[in-house]
Amino acid sequence: LAKDRGKNNYQFYTNKLQELSLWKLEIENGLRKALENHQFELHFQPQFEMETGMIVGVEALVRWQHPDKGLVSPAEFISLAEETGLIVPLGYWVLKEACLQNKRWQNSGYNPMVISVNVSVRQLQNENFVEMVKDILCQTNLDPCYLELEITESMMLTQESSTSLLKQLNELGVSVAIDDFGTGYSSLCRLKQLPIDRIKIDKSFVDDIDHHPNQGAMVKTIIDMGHNLGFRVIAEGIETQAQADFLMKHECLHGQGYYFSKPLPAVQVEKLFN
Ligand code: C2E
Ligand code: MG
Ligand code: MG
Ligand code: MG
Repeated sequence: LAKDRGKNNYQFYTNKLQELSLWKLEIENGLRKALENHQFELHFQPQFEMETGMIVGVEALVRWQHPDKGLVSPAEFISLAEETGLIVPLGYWVLKEACLQNKRWQNSGYNPMVISVNVSVRQLQNENFVEMVKDILCQTNLDPCYLELEITESMMLTQESSTSLLKQLNELGVSVAIDDFGTGYSSLCRLKQLPIDRIKIDKSFVDDIDHHPNQGAMVKTIIDMGHNLGFRVIAEGIETQAQADFLMKHECLHGQGYYFSKPLPAVQVEKLFN
């Protein structure tokens, strides 16, 4: 009977929902404990000047060293950390650890370079955000010129106050990059007015560069546009020589991707430093 089936469906969905929220609750508790028990760690993916193979920076990417599950990727927990607000303390830890590590490398005598740190909208919405960045730079004694914050286009759409925020960060001396560039909907007019230092061309554009002429033309347009707006340009998700060649040919000189190096723990990535 339809009525029974309706009831079964209802039951099916409530069970599924219960499972889902249980799972979420489990992760949420797990995340909270992970913070207390220091189960997060940073990996670092180098950014290259592609022509010379010189490393010009590193991006810090968080991982969760789970006691049972092993290394958990951020794709599995960042959005939940955002939903629950746990991204605020987690983001604080990430930023501080990244600055500390960069300072450690400088103290060991490596050529100073910029460390890029991903920042969520929830962190930016916190009215103390700029103060917090300042505080961490002060505590870690890292020169602000060696820190770059990666934000996404969506953050600038939603936030009118984002203009003032970016200006404050600019005055502080840290740089700002637009991550996953091209996947959002920011207007060029708006971008042009903001103190942004560089754009990171999203992997999805890089993927088909060498197979689809349209995609190639699109990437070429993004590179030119970025330069015309006064931004530096880096491409992410480069997996092949052909992709790197295409990008270099069209004046995108910096790149990041598995073709050059995967994200690595600190002790491994520093072996690649110049
Ligand atoms: P993202 O910031 O765009 O980082 C690039 C992601 O692409 C990283 O995944 C990186 O490992 C991966 N990647 C780099 N090169 C290649 C490549 O050649 N091929 C492929 N298939 N992938 C490549 P990851 O580390 O899993 O991070 C995923 C996303 O999670 C990041 O995307 C970022 O949005 C977020 N995330 C990571 N760490 C943090 C963090 O500390 N805070 C916040 N708020 N978000 C973070
Ligand atoms: Mg990023
Ligand atoms: Mg990205
Ligand atoms: Mg991203």
